[in-house]
Amino acid sequence: MKVHEYQAKELLARYGVPVPNGKVAGTADEAAAIAKELGVPVVVKAQIHAGGRGKGGGIKLASDAAEARAAAGEILGMQLVTHQTGPGGQLVKRVLVEERIEIDRELYLGIVIDNSVGLPLVMASAEGGVEIEEVAAKDPDAIKKSLVDPTIGFQAFQGRDLAMAIGLGGELMRPAGNLIAGLYGAFAENDCSLAEINPLVVTKDGRVLAADAKFNFDDNALYRHKDIAELRDLDEEDPLEVAAQESGIGTYIKLTGNIGCVVNGAGLAMATMDAIKLAGGDPANFLDIGTVNDPDRVIASFRILMDDPDVKAVLINIFGGMARVDVIAQGIIDAHSEMDVGVPVVARLVGTNVEEGERLLAESGLNLIRANDLGEAAKAAVEAAG
Ligand code: GDP
Ligand code: MN
Repeated sequence: MKVHEYQAKELLARYGVPVPNGKVAGTADEAAAIAKELGVPVVVKAQIHAGGRGKGGGIKLASDAAEARAAAGEILGMQLVTHQTGPGGQLVKRVLVEERIEIDRELYLGIVIDNSVGLPLVMASAEGGVEIEEVAAKDPDAIKKSLVDPTIGFQAFQGRDLAMAIGLGGELMRPAGNLIAGLYGAFAENDCSLAEINPLVVTKDGRVLAADAKFNFDDNALYRHKDIAELRDLDEEDPLEVAAQESGIGTYIKLTGNIGCVVNGAGLAMATMDAIKLAGGDPANFLDIGTVNDPDRVIASFRILMDDPDVKAVLINIFGGMARVDVIAQGIIDAHSEMDVGVPVVARLVGTNVEEGERLLAESGLNLIRANDLGEAAKAAVEAAG
């Protein structure tokens, strides 16, 4: 789960990370009032979950309350397009109005889990304000790294080392070291998969603070962070993914291709996507309905796929272990009677009660494309999708 910049900065502040003074506004009038209260030149920043807002026109400078009102008026309600949104952009519902910072230097600070060693990895770079992926590709040595042993926690010397390594020595070393430790505290205590400050800035008057902030939280740990879970903004998420979660059909992730997949088991879902790719096609989604013994779940998954205009063919790949193929077959039949399945459906069904499933499908008279081998099924789906 992600949160907005203003929420991320509130969290950072609780961990002692210095952030600019500011507040969030939902209208131009509110933005003007905040600017007036701050009494200094401000920056008005679109609050959407995607980055790259600066380049997209979602960040404007304002010298006083009147300019802040005008800037907020332009940004609020816009469909902000950045490299991280889809081509349609994302609707801006709120702006963050903050004291404008006189920036001397822009740096980078981020924490992720390094899966190769299973430990949190703190990364810092003197090259901030640009995508860290770009820095990593162009000049990997410009990123300084420090692994954290969670049993002893982040050590003060690590913060000072990283600070020194990105040019924050002398007077700045202690505050910068504390800031990095604060970011780590927020990351670890809230079960984050990512915590990022880009840019971390040095101001002209010699302060170090977070000019931007981003957190990704591990969804599986949200149950123990009710305060964070409440910050969820469904408007920022894919509507079909939200619908899939609400109907409890399992794991659904929207992808960019045109073959809708209904699969039981995450491993099988991945194998199915590989098979589609191998056959020259592209999956429209990852849908794992799990160990399903309820035809309604199959119907619900068809509904999700039929609501996706990108889906030009469906591939059902079921390996009946605990799940019974006859129940799934009944779900497929019910789905066809409950909705207009306007695309070809390829079914590969094997395992428990497959004979009974076959009998049900044969009696239903449904015009499915059948395959017993996954490779053949994928090929048929790719052909059917055109
Ligand atoms: P992003 O583009 O969505 O990542 O948004 P950021 O918050 O990182 O802002 C993008 C850029 O806008 C930063 O790298 C800064 O160069 C600039 N910026 C943001 N806040 C301020 C500010 O208070 N003062 C000045 N001068 N520039 C700012
Ligand atoms: Mn940024």
